[in-house]
Amino acid sequence: MDTELLIGARFEAGTEAEEQILDPKTGARILDLPEASHAQIDAAVDAAEAAFTGWSRTTPGERSAYLLKIADAIEREAEGFAALEALNCGKPINAVRNDELPAIVDCWRFFAGAIRTLQAPVSAEYIAGHTSMIRRDAIGVVGSIAPWNYPLMMMAWKLAPALAGGNTVVFKPSEQTPLTALKLAKILADILPEGVVNIVLGRGDTVGNALINHPKIAMVSITGDIATGKKVLAAAARTVKRTHLELGGKAPVIVYDDADLEAVVAGIRTFGYYNAGQDCTAACRIYAQDGIYENFVADLTAAVGSIRFGLADDGENEIGPLISARQRDRVASFVGRASEHGHMEVTTGGANGAGGGFFFQPTVIAGARQEDEIVRREVFGPVVSVTRFSAADEAVAWANDSDYGLASSVWTKDISKAMQAAARLQYGCTWINTHFALTNEMPHGGLKQSGYGKDMSIYALEDYTAVRHIMINHG
Ligand code: NAD
Repeated sequence: MDTELLIGARFEAGTEAEEQILDPKTGARILDLPEASHAQIDAAVDAAEAAFTGWSRTTPGERSAYLLKIADAIEREAEGFAALEALNCGKPINAVRNDELPAIVDCWRFFAGAIRTLQAPVSAEYIAGHTSMIRRDAIGVVGSIAPWNYPLMMMAWKLAPALAGGNTVVFKPSEQTPLTALKLAKILADILPEGVVNIVLGRGDTVGNALINHPKIAMVSITGDIATGKKVLAAAARTVKRTHLELGGKAPVIVYDDADLEAVVAGIRTFGYYNAGQDCTAACRIYAQDGIYENFVADLTAAVGSIRFGLADDGENEIGPLISARQRDRVASFVGRASEHGHMEVTTGGANGAGGGFFFQPTVIAGARQEDEIVRREVFGPVVSVTRFSAADEAVAWANDSDYGLASSVWTKDISKAMQAAARLQYGCTWINTHFALTNEMPHGGLKQSGYGKDMSIYALEDYTAVRHIMINHG
C-alpha cells in the first residue's frame, strides 16, 4: 500500500500527527498515516509554483497526451484501484469496479479532448486600427481539497480540468480516504513532469487550513460541507483567491399523480440509497402528490426493505456502510429526532445494521412536513423522507424552499408539466423521469449554498482558466 506524500519528484512520509484509516465494513484499523508538516506543505506549493511556468506553456495537444496516458494507466490498474477504494470507503466492489472506475477514466479522457477545442469570440478590429483577441490562460497553483464519498472520482473531477487548463496542483484527499490518491500519486509521478501535481495528507483544520490560506495558491477548489466552503471563502478574501465550491445538496424529487409509479419506486430505491446515500445529489427529499401518495409510500417501503447490504458475499451487496461511526451516529440522530414527532413514521429501516461496521439500515420516513429537519437538512445517509402535496405549484415552491440548489428531479408522463417545473426549479440540475445520471460532457454544480463552479464538461475548463484580452495597435 502506498503511504507517502508526493512533493515535487519526491515521495516522503508526513511528519505530523497520525490519522487512523479504518475499514468501514468492519471498523478495523487499516493503517495510520501521518499528516504533512507546514514545511512539507510549503515545499509542495513551491514545487507546484516552480513547475507552473513549464507546464502552462505546453500546448493543449501535449497536455492532452499526458492526460490520456494517465487515463490508460488508471484503466490498466482499475482492479487495484477498485479494491483499494472498496476497502477504504466500504463500497461494494462492483459499484466501484463497474460504475466509478469507467466514469473516472472517461473524465480524464474527456478533458484530454476538451482542452483542444476551447472556443472564444472571433478576433476582430472592434476599435479601428486595433485587433482584439481572446486568450484563455492557466490561473496558477490550484489547491484542491476532496471529500470522502467518491475519493478517486473527486480527484479526477478536480485534477483533470485543472491540469488540462495548464495549472499545477497541490491536492489534499480527505483524511479518512487517502488510499487511492496515494496510489494515483505513483502514476502521476511517473507520467507528469516534476511538481505538476503534489499530494499532501492531513486534516481539514490543519493541512486544509494551511492550503486555503497559502499566499502562493491562486485558486482553491473544494468539495465538502457548506461550513467548510464558508471557511474557504473567508480565507480567500484575505488574498483574493479564485474559489470553486461544491458544497452538498438536499435533492427534491417531485412525483406527480400521473408518474409511472413502478419506475419512480425503482428509481428512488437506486438513486436515494446509492453509496449509502452519501451523495450530494441523492434523491432524498420526495414530494409525492395526493393521488399516489399512499401507494407510493407502501411500494417504496417494500422496495427499500429489499436493498441488500452487509452480506458476506460482497458481490451481492447493493450498498455499503457509512464512512465512519461518527457519520452513522449523525444519521441515526436525524432519524431518532424525526421519529419523536407524531406525524412522521419510519416505515422501514431506522436502526444501525448488524455487525461491527458502520452500517445503517436503508430508511424511509413518511409523513414528513416542509418545516421538518429531515426535509431541510442534508443527512448524507441512506434515509429518504416523503412529503405529501396537493397542488403542482406547491411542490415546486417547497422544492425551492431550501438552502441547497444542487440537483432535483420531476417524475410525470406529461412532458409539458415536467418542462414547466424544470424551468422553475432553482437547481444546478433537474432530471425528468430519472435522477442521478451524470456524464462527463455535462456540468455538475450548484446554486445557493450548494456553491458555485462546475465539475465535468467544458464549463469546468472555463472555471480553471482565465479569460484574457490581447489588443494590438496597428499604429
Ligand atoms: P468536509 O467539508 O468536512 O470535508 C471536505 C474536505 O475539506 C476534506 O478534505 C476536509 O479535510 C477538508 N476540510 C475540512 N475543514 C477544512 C478547513 N477548515 N479548511 C480546509 N479544508 C478543510 O466534508 P466531508 O464530510 O468530507 O464530505 C461530505 C460533504 O461534502 C457533504 O456535505 C456533501 O454533501 C459534500 N459533497 C458535495 C459534493 C458536490 O458535488 N456538491 C460532492 C460530494 C460531497
